Amino acid sequence: MGCAEDTPLGWSPGRWRDWFAARGQPAFRGDQVFAWLHRFGVTDPMEMTNLGRGLREALASELDWEPPLSVAAVQRSADGSVKFGFGTRDGHVVESVLIPGSGRDRRKYTVCVSSQLGCALGCAFCATAGMGLVRDLSAAEIVAQVHRILEHMGEEPGTYQTAGRPRAQWLTNIVYMGMGEPLMNLPAVLASVAVLADPGGLDFSARRITISTAGWVPGLEALAAAPDFAGQLAVSLHACEDALRTRLMPVNRRYPVARLREALLAFPLAARRRITLEYILFDGLNDSPAQARALIRFCEGLRVKVNLIPYHAHGEGSAFSPSPPARKAAFVAILQGAGLTVIERASAGSDIDAACGQLATGSKPRATR
Ligand code: SF4
Repeated sequence: MGCAEDTPLGWSPGRWRDWFAARGQPAFRGDQVFAWLHRFGVTDPMEMTNLGRGLREALASELDWEPPLSVAAVQRSADGSVKFGFGTRDGHVVESVLIPGSGRDRRKYTVCVSSQLGCALGCAFCATAGMGLVRDLSAAEIVAQVHRILEHMGEEPGTYQTAGRPRAQWLTNIVYMGMGEPLMNLPAVLASVAVLADPGGLDFSARRITISTAGWVPGLEALAAAPDFAGQLAVSLHACEDALRTRLMPVNRRYPVARLREALLAFPLAARRRITLEYILFDGLNDSPAQARALIRFCEGLRVKVNLIPYHAHGEGSAFSPSPPARKAAFVAILQGAGLTVIERASAGSDIDAACGQLATGSKPRATR
C-alpha cells in the first residue's frame, strides 16, 4: 500500500544535510533548517533568517512546502480531550486526539496519532475498521499531526498552560494508537519517530513514544530488528483464546495467540522496560475469572504490564458492552493476586468518539458479533 510522497516535514536531519551537501553547502545548514521546522515550528523557508537569501529562495523554489495536513475539524470533549480531523492533500481526513492528564497531571498532555488512513485489520469493536485501508500515511503526515496540535496549543496558552514553557515540553507522551496498524507502515512510522525524537528538533524522549500493534507479527519482528528504535511497545491483546481473539481481531487467524507470544518473548527490551498489554473488558465476553487466569498464563515469562481499558460503544446498535464494575474488580483482583502490574485506564474523549477504537472518518462503524 503506497503512501503520500514525503515532504520536508518528514525529512531526517541526515536528509537535510545531504540536500545542502549536494549544493556545496556545509552540513550544519541542514541542521538549521531541521531546527526551524521542528524546534520553532517555522515552515516558510523565507522566514529561516539564519540562511542567506539565495539559500532561502532555493529551498522555497525547489521543495514542496504545501502543508501535508490542514485542520478540518476540532471537537472538544467534556473531559478536556480534543479530537482533530486533519484534511490530507488528496482529500481524506485523518484523526488525532489530544488528551490532558487529570489532577496533578493536568499539565501533562498525550497525543494519539494515526499511522494509516483507515485500517486493513478489521477488529470487530473498532470504528476505524469500517473504513478499510485507504492508504498508509507518510512520515510527514504523521509528524504533521503533532505539529498541528502544537500550533493549536500555542494559540490557546491559557487553556493548555503552555505559557513560559519551551514548545518541546508541551507534550508528555505520543502514542501511535489512532487510525491504522503502525507496524504495517513501519518505515514511515520509524522515520516519524526519529524526526520527533531528534535532539535538533522537538527532542521528544523516545521513551515517551509508544507504538501500539494489534499483533502484526512480521511488523513486530521487523521492529525487534530495528537498530534505532528506543520507544515503547504496546500490544492490543483483548483475549487469550484463539477462537475469541479471532472473532474480536481477525489478524489472530494469521498470527494466533501462541505465535504472538513467541514474538513478544523474542522482543528485545532494555533494562527496566516492559511491554504494555492492552485489554478492553467486554461484558460477558472476555472478563471471566477463567479468562483472567488465561491472561496470567499468557504473561508468564514476559516483562509486561496490563492496561485494562473500558469499552466505549460507537455508532448505534453496538454488539458489545462494557464490563460492569463488579466483574471488572474481580478480574483485576485475580491479575493482581498473581503479581501482575495492572493499570485501570480511564478512556478519554468518549463523548466525541475520540476514545480507543472510536476513530473513523467517512464511514459507518461496524457492529459485528
Ligand atoms: S483496533 Fe487498531 S488494528 Fe484493529 S481495526 Fe482498529 S485501527 Fe485497525
